[in-house]
Formats: sequence, structure tokens, C-alpha cells
Amino acid sequence: MPAIATMKSLAFMNKWVVTEKLGCPADFGFGELVWPTPGDEIPFWKNKFPSRDASPEAPAEIEKDSNLMHIIHITAEMAPIAKVGGLGDVVTGLARACLSRGHTVDIMLPFYECIQKQEISDLALITTYNSYHDGNWVATNAYHGVVSSIPVIFIEPSNQFFKGKNVYGGSYNELEAYLFFSRACLEWMQVTGVQPDIIHVHEWQIGALPLLYWDMYQSLSLKKPRIVLTIHNMEHYGECRQEQLSKCGLDGSIYASVEKAIDDRTIGHNPERLSLLKGGIVYSNAVVYFGILNGIDTVIWNPATDAFLPAKFHAQKPEGKKICKYYIQKGLGLKSEGTVPLVVCITRLVAQKGLHLITHAIKRAEELGGQMILLGNSPVHWVQKDFEDLANLHNKGTSTRILLMYSEELSHMLYAAADIVLVPSIYEPCGLAQMIGMRYGAVPVVRKTGGLADTVFDVDDPSNHEKANGFVFEGIDEGSLNWALDRAFRHFIDN
Ligand code: ADP
Repeated sequence: MPAIATMKSLAFMNKWVVTEKLGCPADFGFGELVWPTPGDEIPFWKNKFPSRDASPEAPAEIEKDSNLMHIIHITAEMAPIAKVGGLGDVVTGLARACLSRGHTVDIMLPFYECIQKQEISDLALITTYNSYHDGNWVATNAYHGVVSSIPVIFIEPSNQFFKGKNVYGGSYNELEAYLFFSRACLEWMQVTGVQPDIIHVHEWQIGALPLLYWDMYQSLSLKKPRIVLTIHNMEHYGECRQEQLSKCGLDGSIYASVEKAIDDRTIGHNPERLSLLKGGIVYSNAVVYFGILNGIDTVIWNPATDAFLPAKFHAQKPEGKKICKYYIQKGLGLKSEGTVPLVVCITRLVAQKGLHLITHAIKRAEELGGQMILLGNSPVHWVQKDFEDLANLHNKGTSTRILLMYSEELSHMLYAAADIVLVPSIYEPCGLAQMIGMRYGAVPVVRKTGGLADTVFDVDDPSNHEKANGFVFEGIDEGSLNWALDRAFRHFIDN
């Protein structure tokens, strides 16, 4: 059976310190699987996996577009190599979708020190050039490589920018680093003569690029491209002082007007501030303003082929999902006897995501006799500390695991293991976790806000009977969450 083959080959490849050989529970019918344990020398999600490079080959039914263009995305994140949240997923998914429709697509990304080079195919240095920052020309390398079948150009300055263990939060000035990167991308086009039809910039980090393009590079040799800006989440907007903007070579004072880049909310304050996102909105040819429902890349997120799963499954053949759950329970030391609902929450731990509701759900799932796994990370020190305290409190038992880290591999396995995926956001432009959860056979429990309200419909809401696919609550109080989670548990037990 394929699942056994996968397990054996994984065990072979990794020389797992094997742990426990169980006769598999009878109803799995999978003879001899090797199960991980919490004591394994290499945690099961850090094993080597078969290549996860998914082909962008278009399914036969995808028609090629008639007006084919060259599109360059410029972004701070790209899944899976430099992903923090949904921005990374969306940029990769969108690029692959446009490739499959016949367009020529590249992504330009900072060459973060934390990027694992072995995850890039055909990596090669293509250009050495200088780009401006704060009165100096910084020696810069551009590399070319392929990630998830997308051509990527990596920009690597010789200064301290983008160094550190993570995508964000290094010990350099982030705003200035992205100002540098925005200019370095245009400078690279200028130096190499590459002129796409569309430069598609994402979020505040690249907000200064449209200013640089129209007020500087258009009078040099870049004439052809038109600029599209997509806003994924308005929480961050790149608050910027005039002097900081000047560091990329523009005169910051020129942009300090309402018509240009001043943040209207700071008018009358001393000093007033610029907003890179506002500047980007004003200077782009088109802005993706209205809400577009996200989609997930169904090749990358496919439980029937997902290289990270110990057993594959799909709607017509769901047995593998049980194995995934059992595997996770064994690997994390959760109780695996009996049938209890497993709630999974995978999220950045920031206020937007409903931190008090996540904390409450941990308690509630335990009270209801279920299990919960939280995979999350916070950029805010005290939030991380609070969750570390919670982990110390709960992780000793056999029903809760709070895992404070980022792991793409583990996230795939957890979606596959989950019975319920929890997304209790206070606000949510769209959200991907609920969609990925559904793709992996987990029922979503979500707060009724933004894109969550657009994608999850309560089974007990008669007006949406046709579309019913999960459990929805409205309030931001614990009782509201209980109401939805309790019904999801009841549904699990009854059905
Ligand atoms: P946001 O973009 O606000 O972070 P989304 O729901 O749109 O929220 O996307 C979040 C993406 O990031 C999902 O793919 C989710 O699985 C992933 N993710 C979030 N936190 C982690 C983590 N700690 N480890 C692995 N993946 C994570």
C-alpha cells in the first residue's frame, strides 16, 4: 500500500531512531508502521522529506490567456522558503496560477539569510551591481533560482540588511531595508534591461517602489512596466519619516502632502508621518482594493499527494486521515486510545487572531474531553512569553500541545490530523487556515468576520443550509466561542 511504502522510505531515508513498532490499530489495516515519539532524537517534522517541489503544470481544463504578459511580483514573503503568513501563500499561488495560464512570471525577493538554499533549484549568481542607500552605493548580488516551479530573483545586498534567523525582526532597520530592496529591484531592471509589462508589488514593504518608478526610473530607461499594488492586510502601512524616505534617494519632503504620501491620520501632529502604503496607492496604476476571496493552491495543499503526510487521503478514500491523526498523537505524546476530537489552530500569535479566544479554546477543549494543538509564533516578546507559560502549564498532560515555532512541514501534518480547525480572529481580511483545513478534511470553527464569514457557513443556520460547512460564532467573548466549539464537539461525537 502506498502509505506503507511512504513510511518505510521515510524511515529508511532518515535512519529514524525508532521508537516504537506497533501493530497498527486493527481498523487502520496498515500492518507495520513505525510511529514517532516525543523522545525521538530528530522530531518527526524535521525529518527529510521527498522533494516538495510541486509542478505548476496546468490542468488540461485551464485555458491559456490570450493577452500574454511578463509579470514580476515584488514581495517580502514567498511560500515556502520565506513565509510568515498568508502573504507568502498568496504570492506563490498567484504566480503559479498566472504561469499556468501562459504568462511569464518572476518573483523578486530579498535573499534573507534564513532562506534554506537547498530548497532552491538551479541557484546561480546572475548579476553583480550597485544600488543606492543613504548616500552610498551598496554592492549587491542578484541570484536566479526556481522555487515551487517559479523563477525567483533573489536580491542580496552586501550590508547587514536581511541578515538574521527569521524573515522579520532582524537587528537592522526593517523599513530602511525594504526601501533599499524596492530601489534595488528597479535598479536591477535598469542595469539588466529587463522590462516586464507589469510590476506587481505587495504590501507596505514595497510601497515606495511606485514612487521610485514614476519619479526616478521613468526618466532613466524603464518605460514599459505599469504598476499594480495588492494590499493583503491593512494593519501595517509602513509608517515613515521624511528623512527615512530620503534614504532611498527620493526627496522625502516632496511626498509630505495629502495628495502624495502623508498619512492623513497624522495631519496636525508634530511631526507628521508618511505612509509607504498610502504612497503606493497614490502612485500605482492599479490597486487591488476590493476584497478578493483567497484561494489555496490545490497542488501544494493536496492531502492525496502531500509529501509531508505519513499517509495520503482524499474525500473518496479518507482512511489515511486516521493514520495522520494517530501519527501526530503518537509523535506529540497525546492520548491515542479512544476517539476524541482533535482541534488544531495554526496561526501567527498577534492580536488580530483573537489571542484570548485561542487561550480559552485550549481550556475548553480540555474540559470537553477533547484535544488541542496550537502551532504558532509571535513577533511580540510578551505574547510569546505568555504562551510559553501556557505551554508549561498544559504540555505535561496528554490532551494539549502548545508548539511555539514556525514549521511548514508540521503545519501540513496538523491540518491532516485535525478534526476541527479553529480560526477565532477578531478581524480577518480573508484567512487561509480555514480553507486549508477544509481541504484536509477538518471542520472549521470560525468567528464571523471578513473572509471567514465569506467562506464558512454554519450547519445550524437554515438560511445557508446548502452551503453549510462548519461552525460560526459572532461575539468576541468566551461564551460565543463555547457555543460554536461545543456544537462542533457534539457533531463529532454524534456522527
Ligand atoms: P495571515 O496571513 O494573517 O497570517 P492566513 O490565514 O491568511 O493568515 O495565512 C496563514 C498562513 O500561515 C497559513 O498557511 C498557515 O498555515 C500559516 N502559518 C501560520 N502560523 C504558522 C506556523 N507557526 N507554522 C507554520 N505555518 C504557519
